[in-house]
Amino acid sequence: MDYLPVFLDVRGRDALVVGGGKVALRKAELLVQAGALPRVVAPAIQPALVELAERHGGSCDAVPFAPAHLAGAALVIVATGVPEVDATVHREAGARGVPVNVADRPELCTFILPAVVDRSPVIVAFSTGGRVPVLARSLRARLEAMLPAGLGRLADFLGARRGWLRERVPDPGLRLRAWERLLEGAVAERVLAGDEAGAERLLQEEVAALDGAPRGEVFLVGAGPGDPDLLSFRALRLMQQADVVFYDRLVSAPVLALVRREAERVYVGKRRGEHAVAQPDINELLAEHARRGRRVLRLKGGDPFIFGRGGEEIEHLAEAGIPFQVVPGITAASGCAAYAGIPLTHRDHAQSVRFVTGHLKDGSIDLDWPELARPQQTVVFYMGLVGLPVICERLIAHGMAESTPVALVQQGTTPAQRVLVSTLGAMPERLRAAQFHAPTLAIVGTVVSLHERLSWFRPAAET
Ligand code: SAH
Repeated sequence: MDYLPVFLDVRGRDALVVGGGKVALRKAELLVQAGALPRVVAPAIQPALVELAERHGGSCDAVPFAPAHLAGAALVIVATGVPEVDATVHREAGARGVPVNVADRPELCTFILPAVVDRSPVIVAFSTGGRVPVLARSLRARLEAMLPAGLGRLADFLGARRGWLRERVPDPGLRLRAWERLLEGAVAERVLAGDEAGAERLLQEEVAALDGAPRGEVFLVGAGPGDPDLLSFRALRLMQQADVVFYDRLVSAPVLALVRREAERVYVGKRRGEHAVAQPDINELLAEHARRGRRVLRLKGGDPFIFGRGGEEIEHLAEAGIPFQVVPGITAASGCAAYAGIPLTHRDHAQSVRFVTGHLKDGSIDLDWPELARPQQTVVFYMGLVGLPVICERLIAHGMAESTPVALVQQGTTPAQRVLVSTLGAMPERLRAAQFHAPTLAIVGTVVSLHERLSWFRPAAET
């Protein structure tokens, strides 16, 4: 972060505004909204600014800036457009430890003013660090549309009942769940619709219905191949509700960052050949945490039901009688194919697609090679990097042309994505020089020939 976001309490405090024009007026308006008393200093001050300052308990002084004006100011905002004055105020404020903002001169600011969406008491403030004001504007428009107009009313309504709820539901875990139910359910909807009496009735009912024993639950969620934008809405919603998350190596850092901040994070990943936590232990860990009444997020790369052992995990939960939900994710084959411009099926090339594991068992791969070598289909090998030379050799031995194109996609859908296109005959040699590492996926079939024309994603790794 380039800046530390903070919210300043300036109610009833002097805020110095140096400048008397339009920009100064806009800044003074913002200060007034936050309850500050604007003290305006400039040789010439617009009438509108004079009027604003006087109406809100501030003052105006039609003189040039002098260091003495800084005395007692909580902060100073400068909008003169005169470089020498900007620099002087910046220097004098710095010497006195008064936070200073100079309009359009980030290098002279000790704080910057964020873009704001105001649903007081809820305030959303954000900034592009002054780099792309247009982006800030478009973000604000989106947030304005997203946040209900009654959000402030909702915050006031629930805020006023916090103490009551704390007494009524002393258990912190249960109380948190009650809060979430109130926020996501009918109570919130009533408040947003302006019916506070109805909301109050519903609130009493909901709280009365809370039973003593919290019920844990497991969310088995597909995290997709890496790009966080590929998460589903449901995945994101459940990620935001978790008390604890068990994740493995394939879950990308940007995806993990979207899990509820307070959630405990437990890595249970495996590396090739060495198991961090054995599968039966993972199964039991999920059950155990759910039994304690926690909402357990099991986050898996791609789709949990495709080479993810998700089935085994929920079998165990089903036996233990623990409630669970499964959220599909975009599997690596779909993600890599889309981002590499390789349609998995195509009327001219492939009428079917197969997802197979290329994982070596005792140095060999046990697959139905005659089936895989058939024409007019695409074969996607998961976990096939180490075994790739064997895979190419076996497919050729079973009748596939040496010229059949093969694509390797490493870390698909992420900024580190790399794509290597070659043929069954030449790939093993190419691979030796190219140094690919896991996670990498191999796509075999003539659809790969479309890659050059259809690829659109330009990750940093390839430019
Ligand atoms: N459940 C996962 C697959 C787990 S098996 C899914 O549906 O995608 C692990 C294999 O998936 C890796 O060896 C690799 O072949 C593939 N894989 C997963 N993420 C990948 C990515 N971002 N890029 C390329 N391959 C990936």
